Amino acid sequence: MNGRIDSSKDNKREGKLFILSGPSGTGKGTVVKQILKTCDNVALSVSMTTRASRRGEVHGESYYFVSQEEFEKIIDKDGFLEYAKVYEHYYGTPREKVMQDLDAGRDVLLEIDIQGAMKVKRSFPDGIFIFLLPPSLKELRRRIEARATDAQDVIDLRMSKAAEEIRYLPAYDYYVINDDLTEAVEKVKSIFSAEHQRVDQTAERIMERYKEAD
Ligand code: ADP
Ligand code: 5GP
Repeated sequence: MNGRIDSSKDNKREGKLFILSGPSGTGKGTVVKQILKTCDNVALSVSMTTRASRRGEVHGESYYFVSQEEFEKIIDKDGFLEYAKVYEHYYGTPREKVMQDLDAGRDVLLEIDIQGAMKVKRSFPDGIFIFLLPPSLKELRRRIEARATDAQDVIDLRMSKAAEEIRYLPAYDYYVINDDLTEAVEKVKSIFSAEHQRVDQTAERIMERYKEAD
């Protein structure tokens, strides 16, 4: 082997759970869409919601759109990793698919609100929590208005909630300001890469390879 390390002996890749959250309108959906175009090894968890679908949203891709009754049945069966009531509607992360992907060594990305992220943190303290911020509150309002999917009272509600939500920043591992979209996407992707280079629990396994190479 000429003293070189055989990288094909890499240990089975460990699936990591990434949580991207931040105030509504910050651009989470937009950032995630870009990430999925170029990242093969990350599976987006498709959430379930009781809200009505917006123009262009596809059942099973954007969300699973279900009735309140269906959603509550799944709560009763403990089928959600977390769920929350956000702006009058339920949103939840179906548990089974996430666990299957992680077990198969695939990274999983959750795009969820701050309440949900805090719940996930209790059950998955090793999750990697990324807070996506708008460049300013003024720009946040502009984006929510430009999206033109919400009535004025909903926009005001989302804005007042945003200021409160930003207070949760210290509970996160990373922050990314979504000013220039391309830069924000690259920053999130670099967090994914860096997390796979952590020594943490892999130190023994990595050192083992160097013993063989001696
Ligand atoms: P969220 O999923 O966080 O609620 P969206 O992805 O729906 O937010 O984005 C809200 C609006 O802001 C959309 O109209 C989107 O096109 C726009 N947007 C997202 N990121 C940027 C950015 N970096 N610069 C300008 N506009 C953006
Ligand atoms: P929207 O209605 O704009 O799609 O989403 C409203 C908020 O709900 C966003 O902040 C979004 O991230 C959050 N959300 C989407 N899916 C989930 C989920 O499964 N769980 C939780 N807790 N929040 C979610």
